[in-house]
Amino acid sequence: MAKTFKYLILGGGVAAGYAAWEFARQGLEPGELAIISKEAVAPYERTALSKFYLDPELPNRLPTLYVFPRREILLPEWYSEKGIELILSTEIVKADLAAKSLTSAGGETFSYQILLIATGSTVIRLSDLGVQGADAKNIFYFREIDDADKLYEAIKAKKNGKAVVVGGGYISMELSARLRCNNLDVTMVYPEPWCMSRLFTSDIAAFNEGYYAKKGVNIMKRTVVVGFTANSDGEVKEVKLKDGRVLEADIVVVGDGLRPQTALFKGQVEEEKGGIKTDGFFKTSVPNVYAVGDVATFPVKLYNELRRVEYYEHACLSARKAVEAIIAAEEGKTVEEYDYLPLFYSHAFEQPWCFIGDNVGDTVLFGDSSPESSFPKFGSYWIKDGKVVGAFLQGRIDEERDAMEYVARVRPSVQNVDELAREGFSFARKIENFGLE
Ligand SMILES: Cc1cc2nc3c(=O)[nH]c(=O)nc-3n(C[C@H](O)[C@H](O)[C@H](O)COP(=O)(O)OP(=O)(O)OC[C@H]3O[C@@H](n4cnc5c(N)ncnc54)[C@H](O)[C@@H]3O)c2cc1C
Repeated sequence: MAKTFKYLILGGGVAAGYAAWEFARQGLEPGELAIISKEAVAPYERTALSKFYLDPELPNRLPTLYVFPRREILLPEWYSEKGIELILSTEIVKADLAAKSLTSAGGETFSYQILLIATGSTVIRLSDLGVQGADAKNIFYFREIDDADKLYEAIKAKKNGKAVVVGGGYISMELSARLRCNNLDVTMVYPEPWCMSRLFTSDIAAFNEGYYAKKGVNIMKRTVVVGFTANSDGEVKEVKLKDGRVLEADIVVVGDGLRPQTALFKGQVEEEKGGIKTDGFFKTSVPNVYAVGDVATFPVKLYNELRRVEYYEHACLSARKAVEAIIAAEEGKTVEEYDYLPLFYSHAFEQPWCFIGDNVGDTVLFGDSSPESSFPKFGSYWIKDGKVVGAFLQGRIDEERDAMEYVARVRPSVQNVDELAREGFSFARKIENFGLE
Protein backbone atom coordinates (compact mmCIF):
# COMPACT_ATOMS: atom_id res chain seq x y z
CA MET A 1 0.00 0.00 0.00
CA ALA A 2 1.34 3.40 -0.94
CA LYS A 3 1.60 6.02 1.78
CA THR A 4 -0.31 9.05 0.56
CA PHE A 5 0.26 12.73 1.32
CA LYS A 6 -1.29 15.93 0.09
CA TYR A 7 2.15 17.54 -0.16
CA LEU A 8 5.40 15.63 -0.53
CA ILE A 9 8.90 17.15 -0.46
CA LEU A 10 11.56 14.94 -2.03
CA GLY A 11 14.93 15.81 -0.48
CA GLY A 12 15.73 16.76 3.10
CA GLY A 13 18.15 19.65 2.70
CA VAL A 14 18.04 23.41 3.02
CA ALA A 15 15.14 23.99 0.63
CA ALA A 16 13.10 21.19 2.24
CA GLY A 17 13.48 22.73 5.70
CA TYR A 18 12.47 26.20 4.55
CA ALA A 19 9.55 24.81 2.52
CA ALA A 20 8.26 22.90 5.57
CA TRP A 21 8.50 26.07 7.65
CA GLU A 22 6.54 28.05 5.05
CA PHE A 23 3.88 25.31 4.80
CA ALA A 24 3.48 25.47 8.60
CA ARG A 25 3.26 29.27 8.51
CA GLN A 26 0.53 29.11 5.88
CA GLY A 27 -1.48 26.63 7.95
CA LEU A 28 -1.16 22.88 7.61
CA GLU A 29 -3.34 20.01 8.79
CA PRO A 30 -1.48 17.17 10.56
CA GLY A 31 -0.62 14.37 8.14
CA GLU A 32 -0.78 16.54 5.03
CA LEU A 33 2.99 16.99 4.53
CA ALA A 34 5.94 14.58 4.46
CA ILE A 35 9.64 15.03 3.71
CA ILE A 36 11.57 12.10 2.25
CA SER A 37 15.33 12.24 2.65
CA LYS A 38 18.13 9.79 2.16
CA GLU A 39 19.99 11.52 4.97
CA ALA A 40 19.44 10.25 8.52
CA VAL A 41 18.78 13.67 10.05
CA ALA A 42 16.18 16.43 9.74
CA PRO A 43 17.02 19.37 7.42
CA TYR A 44 20.09 21.28 8.59
CA GLU A 45 22.17 24.27 7.51
CA ARG A 46 24.44 22.55 5.00
CA THR A 47 26.68 25.59 4.54
CA ALA A 48 28.00 25.21 8.09
CA LEU A 49 29.61 21.85 7.28
CA SER A 50 32.69 23.37 5.64
CA LYS A 51 32.87 26.18 8.19
CA PHE A 52 32.41 25.79 11.94
CA TYR A 53 31.55 22.08 11.80
CA LEU A 54 35.28 21.36 11.46
CA ASP A 55 36.41 23.88 14.07
CA PRO A 56 39.17 22.31 16.18
CA GLU A 57 38.05 24.09 19.39
CA LEU A 58 34.30 24.40 19.25
CA PRO A 59 32.83 22.36 16.41
CA ASN A 60 29.30 23.38 15.56
CA ARG A 61 27.01 20.34 15.82
CA LEU A 62 23.36 19.35 15.84
CA PRO A 63 21.02 20.54 17.28
CA THR A 64 22.29 24.08 16.62
CA LEU A 65 22.81 23.12 12.99
CA TYR A 66 19.16 22.39 12.13
CA VAL A 67 17.69 24.93 9.70
CA PHE A 68 16.67 28.10 11.48
CA PRO A 69 14.31 30.28 9.41
CA ARG A 70 13.86 33.63 11.16
CA ARG A 71 15.98 32.29 14.05
CA GLU A 72 13.51 29.48 14.86
CA ILE A 73 15.52 26.26 15.05
CA LEU A 74 13.51 23.44 13.47
CA LEU A 75 14.30 20.54 15.78
CA PRO A 76 12.94 17.08 14.89
CA GLU A 77 10.17 17.69 17.51
CA TRP A 78 9.05 20.75 15.56
CA TYR A 79 8.05 18.50 12.63
CA SER A 80 6.12 16.09 14.86
CA GLU A 81 4.34 18.96 16.64
CA LYS A 82 3.18 20.25 13.25
CA GLY A 83 2.12 16.78 12.10
CA ILE A 84 4.81 16.74 9.39
CA GLU A 85 6.19 13.26 8.72
CA LEU A 86 9.98 13.04 8.40
CA ILE A 87 10.79 9.94 6.39
CA LEU A 88 14.57 9.73 6.85
CA SER A 89 17.28 7.32 5.65
CA THR A 90 15.03 6.65 2.65
CA GLU A 91 16.40 6.95 -0.87
CA ILE A 92 13.93 7.32 -3.70
CA VAL A 93 15.11 5.28 -6.68
CA LYS A 94 12.13 5.65 -8.99
CA ALA A 95 9.79 8.52 -9.74
CA ASP A 96 6.68 8.14 -11.89
CA LEU A 97 5.36 11.66 -12.27
CA ALA A 98 2.39 10.59 -14.44
CA ALA A 99 1.25 8.16 -11.72
CA LYS A 100 2.20 10.63 -8.94
CA SER A 101 4.25 7.99 -7.22
CA LEU A 102 7.76 7.56 -5.79
CA THR A 103 9.45 4.27 -4.92
CA SER A 104 12.23 3.87 -2.35
CA ALA A 105 15.26 1.58 -2.46
CA GLY A 106 13.49 -0.50 0.20
CA GLY A 107 10.44 -0.98 -2.08
CA GLU A 108 8.02 1.38 -0.28
CA THR A 109 5.80 3.55 -2.44
CA PHE A 110 4.61 7.06 -1.73
CA SER A 111 1.96 8.99 -3.58
CA TYR A 112 1.07 12.66 -3.47
CA GLN A 113 -1.17 15.38 -4.82
CA ILE A 114 1.62 17.95 -5.03
CA LEU A 115 5.34 17.18 -5.24
CA LEU A 116 8.19 19.56 -4.42
CA ILE A 117 11.48 18.34 -5.88
CA ALA A 118 14.33 19.52 -3.63
CA THR A 119 17.02 16.94 -4.35
CA GLY A 120 19.92 19.44 -4.51
CA SER A 121 23.30 18.56 -5.98
CA THR A 122 25.62 15.62 -5.71
CA VAL A 123 29.40 15.36 -5.98
CA ILE A 124 31.19 14.10 -9.07
CA ARG A 125 33.64 11.40 -8.03
CA LEU A 126 37.16 11.26 -9.43
CA SER A 127 36.72 7.51 -9.93
CA ASP A 128 33.81 8.30 -12.29
CA LEU A 129 36.22 10.48 -14.27
CA GLY A 130 38.66 7.59 -14.54
CA VAL A 131 41.35 9.04 -12.23
CA GLN A 132 43.68 6.20 -11.36
CA GLY A 133 43.64 5.00 -7.70
CA ALA A 134 40.74 7.32 -6.79
CA ASP A 135 39.03 4.67 -4.66
CA ALA A 136 41.84 4.67 -2.05
CA LYS A 137 40.85 5.17 1.61
CA ASN A 138 40.98 8.71 3.05
CA ILE A 139 39.92 10.34 -0.20
CA PHE A 140 36.86 12.34 0.85
CA TYR A 141 33.99 14.08 -0.90
CA PHE A 142 31.98 16.69 0.88
CA ARG A 143 28.24 17.26 0.64
CA GLU A 144 26.39 15.74 3.57
CA ILE A 145 26.76 15.60 7.34
CA ASP A 146 28.00 12.02 7.07
CA ASP A 147 30.86 13.20 4.83
CA ALA A 148 31.76 15.89 7.36
CA ASP A 149 31.79 13.37 10.21
CA LYS A 150 34.10 11.06 8.25
CA LEU A 151 36.49 13.89 7.48
CA TYR A 152 36.45 15.05 11.10
CA GLU A 153 37.45 11.53 12.24
CA ALA A 154 40.26 11.41 9.66
CA ILE A 155 41.57 14.81 10.82
CA LYS A 156 41.79 13.42 14.36
CA ALA A 157 43.41 10.18 13.16
CA LYS A 158 45.99 11.93 10.96
CA LYS A 159 46.99 14.64 13.45
CA ASN A 160 49.53 17.10 12.00
CA GLY A 161 49.52 15.13 8.76
CA LYS A 162 49.44 16.26 5.14
CA ALA A 163 46.21 17.14 3.32
CA VAL A 164 45.68 17.79 -0.38
CA VAL A 165 42.53 19.63 -1.40
CA VAL A 166 41.49 19.12 -5.02
CA GLY A 167 39.77 22.18 -6.47
CA GLY A 168 39.88 25.95 -6.25
CA GLY A 169 36.19 26.71 -5.66
CA TYR A 170 34.66 28.09 -2.47
CA ILE A 171 34.14 24.71 -0.78
CA SER A 172 37.79 23.82 -1.45
CA MET A 173 38.82 27.19 -0.07
CA GLU A 174 36.70 26.81 3.06
CA LEU A 175 37.88 23.25 3.64
CA SER A 176 41.53 24.19 3.13
CA ALA A 177 41.16 26.89 5.78
CA ARG A 178 39.53 24.46 8.22
CA LEU A 179 42.14 21.76 7.65
CA ARG A 180 44.87 24.33 8.22
CA CYS A 181 43.19 25.48 11.46
CA ASN A 182 43.35 21.82 12.49
CA ASN A 183 47.13 21.98 12.04
CA LEU A 184 47.39 19.94 8.88
CA ASP A 185 49.92 20.78 6.22
CA VAL A 186 47.56 21.78 3.39
CA THR A 187 48.11 21.99 -0.37
CA MET A 188 45.39 23.09 -2.78
CA VAL A 189 45.58 21.89 -6.40
CA TYR A 190 43.50 23.37 -9.21
CA PRO A 191 43.78 23.77 -12.98
CA GLU A 192 42.60 27.38 -13.24
CA PRO A 193 44.95 30.40 -13.24
CA TRP A 194 43.44 31.54 -9.92
CA CYS A 195 40.99 30.43 -7.23
CA MET A 196 37.20 30.89 -7.62
CA SER A 197 37.89 31.75 -11.23
CA ARG A 198 34.21 31.65 -12.22
CA LEU A 199 33.55 34.60 -9.92
CA PHE A 200 36.74 36.22 -8.65
CA THR A 201 38.66 38.72 -10.73
CA SER A 202 42.44 38.24 -10.73
CA ASP A 203 42.67 41.07 -8.13
CA ILE A 204 40.22 39.46 -5.72
CA ALA A 205 41.97 36.12 -6.17
CA ALA A 206 45.40 37.70 -5.61
CA PHE A 207 44.26 38.89 -2.18
CA ASN A 208 42.83 35.50 -1.24
CA GLU A 209 45.76 33.47 -2.50
CA GLY A 210 48.15 35.82 -0.71
CA TYR A 211 46.11 35.52 2.48
CA TYR A 212 46.07 31.72 2.25
CA ALA A 213 49.82 31.66 1.69
CA LYS A 214 50.25 33.84 4.78
CA LYS A 215 48.20 31.29 6.73
CA GLY A 216 50.47 28.51 5.50
CA VAL A 217 48.35 26.97 2.72
CA ASN A 218 50.37 25.88 -0.35
CA ILE A 219 48.72 26.50 -3.69
CA MET A 220 49.49 24.66 -6.92
CA LYS A 221 47.68 26.13 -9.92
CA ARG A 222 47.35 25.25 -13.60
CA THR A 223 47.66 21.52 -13.02
CA VAL A 224 45.33 18.59 -12.33
CA VAL A 225 45.39 15.39 -10.32
CA VAL A 226 45.91 12.37 -12.56
CA GLY A 227 46.26 9.58 -10.01
CA PHE A 228 46.84 8.39 -6.46
CA THR A 229 48.99 5.71 -4.87
CA ALA A 230 48.01 3.91 -1.68
CA ASN A 231 49.90 2.13 1.11
CA SER A 232 49.45 -1.58 1.98
CA ASP A 233 46.31 -0.71 4.04
CA GLY A 234 44.75 0.88 0.98
CA GLU A 235 45.10 4.39 2.42
CA VAL A 236 46.05 7.22 0.09
CA LYS A 237 49.75 8.01 0.25
CA GLU A 238 50.59 10.12 -2.80
CA VAL A 239 48.82 12.43 -5.23
CA LYS A 240 50.19 12.48 -8.78
CA LEU A 241 49.86 15.71 -10.77
CA LYS A 242 49.75 16.07 -14.53
CA ASP A 243 52.86 18.28 -14.50
CA GLY A 244 54.83 15.37 -13.03
CA ARG A 245 54.96 16.52 -9.42
CA VAL A 246 54.01 14.06 -6.67
CA LEU A 247 52.58 15.21 -3.32
CA GLU A 248 52.55 13.20 -0.11
CA ALA A 249 49.08 12.97 1.42
CA ASP A 250 47.40 11.44 4.47
CA ILE A 251 44.06 12.97 3.55
CA VAL A 252 42.66 14.11 0.20
CA VAL A 253 39.49 16.15 -0.03
CA VAL A 254 37.77 16.74 -3.35
CA GLY A 255 36.02 20.06 -2.90
CA ASP A 256 34.82 20.85 -6.40
CA GLY A 257 32.57 19.22 -8.97
CA LEU A 258 28.81 19.09 -8.49
CA ARG A 259 25.86 18.04 -10.59
CA PRO A 260 22.16 18.66 -9.89
CA GLN A 261 20.25 15.53 -8.86
CA THR A 262 17.69 15.36 -11.64
CA ALA A 263 18.31 11.82 -12.95
CA LEU A 264 15.08 10.41 -11.42
CA PHE A 265 13.00 12.73 -13.59
CA LYS A 266 14.81 12.40 -16.94
CA GLY A 267 12.38 12.30 -19.84
CA GLN A 268 9.41 13.13 -17.59
CA VAL A 269 9.89 16.84 -17.08
CA GLU A 270 11.27 19.67 -19.18
CA GLU A 271 14.91 20.52 -18.44
CA GLU A 272 17.07 23.54 -19.24
CA LYS A 273 20.68 24.46 -18.46
CA GLY A 274 21.18 21.20 -16.60
CA GLY A 275 18.27 21.71 -14.21
CA ILE A 276 14.51 21.25 -14.08
CA LYS A 277 12.86 24.14 -15.90
CA THR A 278 10.34 26.11 -13.86
CA ASP A 279 8.33 29.30 -14.13
CA GLY A 280 8.61 32.21 -11.69
CA PHE A 281 6.55 30.24 -9.13
CA PHE A 282 8.77 27.13 -9.45
CA LYS A 283 6.10 25.13 -11.29
CA THR A 284 7.63 22.58 -13.66
CA SER A 285 6.23 21.41 -17.01
CA VAL A 286 4.32 18.65 -15.14
CA PRO A 287 1.13 19.76 -13.36
CA ASN A 288 1.38 19.75 -9.55
CA VAL A 289 5.15 19.24 -9.60
CA TYR A 290 7.44 22.03 -8.35
CA ALA A 291 11.25 22.18 -8.26
CA VAL A 292 13.28 24.40 -5.92
CA GLY A 293 16.84 25.03 -4.74
CA ASP A 294 19.86 23.74 -6.67
CA VAL A 295 17.82 21.67 -9.16
CA ALA A 296 15.61 24.47 -10.49
CA THR A 297 16.36 26.46 -13.65
CA PHE A 298 14.14 29.49 -13.18
CA PRO A 299 13.53 32.90 -14.76
CA VAL A 300 15.61 35.71 -13.26
CA LYS A 301 13.39 38.73 -13.93
CA LEU A 302 16.18 41.23 -13.36
CA TYR A 303 18.28 39.80 -16.22
CA ASN A 304 15.42 38.42 -18.30
CA GLU A 305 16.97 34.97 -18.58
CA LEU A 306 16.77 31.47 -17.16
CA ARG A 307 19.42 30.52 -14.61
CA ARG A 308 20.26 27.72 -12.23
CA VAL A 309 22.27 28.59 -9.12
CA GLU A 310 23.72 26.57 -6.27
CA TYR A 311 23.35 29.28 -3.64
CA TYR A 312 22.05 28.93 -0.11
CA GLU A 313 19.89 32.04 -0.11
CA HIS A 314 18.16 30.97 -3.30
CA ALA A 315 17.42 27.53 -1.80
CA CYS A 316 15.59 29.21 1.09
CA LEU A 317 13.79 31.85 -0.95
CA SER A 318 12.74 29.57 -3.81
CA ALA A 319 11.32 27.01 -1.37
CA ARG A 320 9.25 29.66 0.39
CA LYS A 321 8.05 31.17 -2.90
CA ALA A 322 6.93 27.77 -4.25
CA VAL A 323 4.93 27.05 -1.09
CA GLU A 324 3.33 30.52 -1.14
CA ALA A 325 2.35 29.90 -4.77
CA ILE A 326 0.92 26.43 -4.02
CA ILE A 327 -1.24 27.72 -1.17
CA ALA A 328 -2.32 30.84 -3.09
CA ALA A 329 -3.40 28.71 -6.06
CA GLU A 330 -5.51 26.52 -3.75
CA GLU A 331 -7.19 29.61 -2.35
CA GLY A 332 -7.74 31.14 -5.79
CA LYS A 333 -5.31 33.96 -5.00
CA THR A 334 -2.13 35.12 -6.72
CA VAL A 335 1.36 35.92 -5.44
CA GLU A 336 4.15 38.01 -6.93
CA GLU A 337 6.54 36.15 -9.21
CA TYR A 338 10.02 35.37 -7.81
CA ASP A 339 12.22 38.41 -8.22
CA TYR A 340 15.70 37.15 -7.52
CA LEU A 341 18.88 39.10 -6.97
CA PRO A 342 21.82 36.64 -6.98
CA LEU A 343 23.60 36.64 -3.62
CA PHE A 344 26.38 34.34 -2.54
CA TYR A 345 28.56 34.44 0.55
CA SER A 346 31.45 32.47 1.95
CA HIS A 347 33.67 32.56 5.02
CA ALA A 348 37.15 31.12 5.44
CA PHE A 349 39.81 31.87 8.04
CA GLU A 350 38.52 35.18 9.46
CA GLN A 351 37.61 36.52 6.02
CA PRO A 352 33.93 36.68 5.07
CA TRP A 353 33.05 37.75 1.55
CA CYS A 354 29.91 38.12 -0.46
CA PHE A 355 28.96 38.67 -4.06
CA ILE A 356 25.73 40.31 -5.19
CA GLY A 357 24.26 40.76 -8.67
CA ASP A 358 25.90 39.89 -11.97
CA ASN A 359 29.62 39.37 -12.66
CA VAL A 360 29.72 40.58 -16.25
CA GLY A 361 31.54 43.47 -17.90
CA ASP A 362 34.51 45.50 -16.66
CA THR A 363 35.58 45.63 -13.04
CA VAL A 364 36.84 48.24 -10.61
CA LEU A 365 38.68 47.31 -7.41
CA PHE A 366 38.72 49.60 -4.37
CA GLY A 367 39.68 49.56 -0.70
CA ASP A 368 42.53 47.86 1.10
CA SER A 369 43.24 44.54 -0.60
CA SER A 370 46.70 43.85 0.74
CA PRO A 371 46.97 40.38 2.30
CA GLU A 372 49.52 41.92 4.68
CA SER A 373 47.04 44.43 6.17
CA SER A 374 45.85 43.93 9.74
CA PHE A 375 42.23 44.62 8.71
CA PRO A 376 41.87 44.19 4.97
CA LYS A 377 38.55 45.39 3.59
CA PHE A 378 37.88 45.88 -0.08
CA GLY A 379 35.35 45.51 -2.84
CA SER A 380 34.80 45.40 -6.54
CA TYR A 381 32.07 46.60 -8.88
CA TRP A 382 31.16 45.06 -12.22
CA ILE A 383 30.14 47.59 -14.87
CA LYS A 384 28.23 46.70 -18.02
CA ASP A 385 26.86 49.15 -20.61
CA GLY A 386 27.73 52.06 -18.31
CA LYS A 387 25.85 50.63 -15.30
CA VAL A 388 26.99 48.97 -12.09
CA VAL A 389 25.52 45.45 -12.26
CA GLY A 390 27.41 43.54 -9.56
CA ALA A 391 29.30 44.07 -6.33
CA PHE A 392 31.79 42.08 -4.29
CA LEU A 393 32.72 42.73 -0.68
CA GLN A 394 35.48 41.20 1.42
CA GLY A 395 36.26 41.90 5.06
CA ARG A 396 33.68 43.31 7.45
CA ILE A 397 30.84 42.79 4.99
CA ASP A 398 27.90 43.56 7.32
CA GLU A 399 28.72 47.28 7.28
CA GLU A 400 28.10 47.73 3.57
CA ARG A 401 26.02 44.79 2.47
CA ASP A 402 22.63 46.49 2.30
CA ALA A 403 24.00 49.37 0.23
CA MET A 404 25.76 46.97 -2.16
CA GLU A 405 22.55 44.94 -2.53
CA TYR A 406 20.65 48.09 -3.34
CA VAL A 407 23.18 49.07 -6.00
CA ALA A 408 23.17 45.62 -7.62
CA ARG A 409 19.39 45.79 -7.87
CA VAL A 410 18.92 49.37 -9.14
CA ARG A 411 22.02 49.26 -11.40
CA PRO A 412 22.99 52.94 -11.36
CA SER A 413 24.82 54.58 -14.26
CA VAL A 414 28.49 55.43 -13.89
CA GLN A 415 30.01 58.34 -15.77
CA ASN A 416 33.56 58.08 -14.52
CA VAL A 417 35.14 54.75 -13.63
CA ASP A 418 38.20 56.32 -11.94
CA GLU A 419 35.91 58.29 -9.67
CA LEU A 420 33.95 55.12 -8.89
CA ALA A 421 37.21 53.45 -7.87
CA ARG A 422 38.05 56.43 -5.63
CA GLU A 423 34.59 56.51 -4.06
CA GLY A 424 34.44 52.75 -3.47
CA PHE A 425 31.95 51.89 -0.72
CA SER A 426 30.75 55.50 -0.40
CA PHE A 427 29.35 55.29 -3.95
CA ALA A 428 26.98 52.52 -2.80
CA ARG A 429 26.05 54.41 0.38
CA LYS A 430 25.34 57.54 -1.66
CA ILE A 431 23.03 55.65 -4.02
CA GLU A 432 21.28 53.96 -1.10
CA ASN A 433 20.74 57.25 0.76
CA PHE A 434 19.98 59.63 -2.07
CA GLY A 435 18.66 57.41 -4.89
CA LEU A 436 19.89 57.31 -8.46
CA GLU A 437 20.33 61.06 -9.01
C1 LIG B 1 29.84 22.20 2.32
C2 LIG B 1 28.96 23.21 1.63
C3 LIG B 1 29.09 24.56 1.92
C4 LIG B 1 28.29 25.50 1.30
N1 LIG B 1 28.45 26.82 1.59
C5 LIG B 1 27.71 27.75 0.97
C6 LIG B 1 27.88 29.12 1.26
O1 LIG B 1 28.74 29.50 2.06
N2 LIG B 1 27.08 30.02 0.62
C7 LIG B 1 26.10 29.63 -0.26
O2 LIG B 1 25.37 30.50 -0.80
N3 LIG B 1 25.91 28.32 -0.56
C8 LIG B 1 26.68 27.38 0.03
N4 LIG B 1 26.50 26.04 -0.26
C9 LIG B 1 25.46 25.66 -1.23
C10 LIG B 1 24.11 25.46 -0.53
O3 LIG B 1 24.28 24.69 0.62
C11 LIG B 1 23.16 24.76 -1.50
O4 LIG B 1 22.91 25.65 -2.57
C12 LIG B 1 21.84 24.38 -0.79
O5 LIG B 1 22.09 23.41 0.22
C13 LIG B 1 20.86 23.81 -1.80
O6 LIG B 1 19.72 23.38 -1.12
P1 LIG B 1 18.82 22.18 -1.69
O7 LIG B 1 17.76 21.94 -0.66
O8 LIG B 1 18.47 22.48 -3.09
O9 LIG B 1 19.80 20.94 -1.74
P2 LIG B 1 20.51 20.18 -0.55
O10 LIG B 1 20.66 21.07 0.63
O11 LIG B 1 21.73 19.56 -1.12
O12 LIG B 1 19.51 19.04 -0.16
C14 LIG B 1 19.19 17.98 -1.03
C15 LIG B 1 18.65 16.84 -0.21
O13 LIG B 1 18.02 15.89 -1.04
C16 LIG B 1 18.38 14.58 -0.64
N5 LIG B 1 18.18 13.69 -1.78
C17 LIG B 1 18.71 13.81 -3.02
N6 LIG B 1 18.30 12.80 -3.82
C18 LIG B 1 17.48 12.03 -3.05
C19 LIG B 1 16.74 10.82 -3.30
N7 LIG B 1 16.78 10.23 -4.50
N8 LIG B 1 16.04 10.30 -2.28
C20 LIG B 1 15.99 10.90 -1.07
N9 LIG B 1 16.67 12.03 -0.78
C21 LIG B 1 17.40 12.59 -1.76
C22 LIG B 1 19.84 14.77 -0.23
O14 LIG B 1 20.27 13.68 0.54
C23 LIG B 1 19.72 16.07 0.56
O15 LIG B 1 19.25 15.82 1.86
C24 LIG B 1 27.31 25.08 0.35
C25 LIG B 1 27.17 23.72 0.05
C26 LIG B 1 27.98 22.79 0.68
C27 LIG B 1 27.84 21.32 0.35
